[in-house]
Amino acid sequence: MDFINTKKIKSWAKSYSGNFLFYQPRSIDEIKTLLTKNKKLISSGGFRSYGDSAISEVIINSKYFNKIINFDEDAGVLRAESGITIDEMIKFLLPKGWFLKVTPGTKFATLGGLHR
Ligand SMILES: Cc1cc2nc3c(=O)[nH]c(=O)nc-3n(C[C@H](O)[C@H](O)[C@H](O)COP(=O)(O)OP(=O)(O)OC[C@H]3O[C@@H](n4cnc5c(N)ncnc54)[C@H](O)[C@@H]3O)c2cc1C
Repeated sequence: MDFINTKKIKSWAKSYSGNFLFYQPRSIDEIKTLLTKNKKLISSGGFRSYGDSAISEVIINSKYFNKIINFDEDAGVLRAESGITIDEMIKFLLPKGWFLKVTPGTKFATLGGLHR
């Protein structure tokens, strides 16, 4: 697991700047371990929320959970892990003739962040 003991984060809305405990797990088992060791942590995606709502003392990040699970090309239904970004979804969908119904003005937001 990528464990950066203290990561310097400058949040998008600039409400927060400082060092935070920051984890980027690569498996469900690693997430389970994190949850047993940390009672309070917050999920994060692309850190693009206007209100910096993914910033807390202990942060778990979905960067490595960005796989496409399946895509129904007839119905246009995409299932993917929460860390996939708008950019990654568009790059997958566009060559197949599909696009997202709605998009924010940033390609760095993630599926998990958007579904809050
Ligand atoms: C330039 C710009 C333009 C934008 N344009 C629009 C727009 O047009 N329309 C619009 O609606 N929004 C827009 N936004 C806002 C942005 O789309 C949302 O704030 C979105 O939530 C950001 O996603 P994120 O992955 O960066 O989430 P983060 O900022 O990382 O997290 C946002 C929230 O989601 C939670 N979260 C993140 N990942 C997970 C997960 N895997 N599981 C559970 N909870 C999770 C966090 O705890 C936090 O509460 C814009 C933002 C920017 C910076």
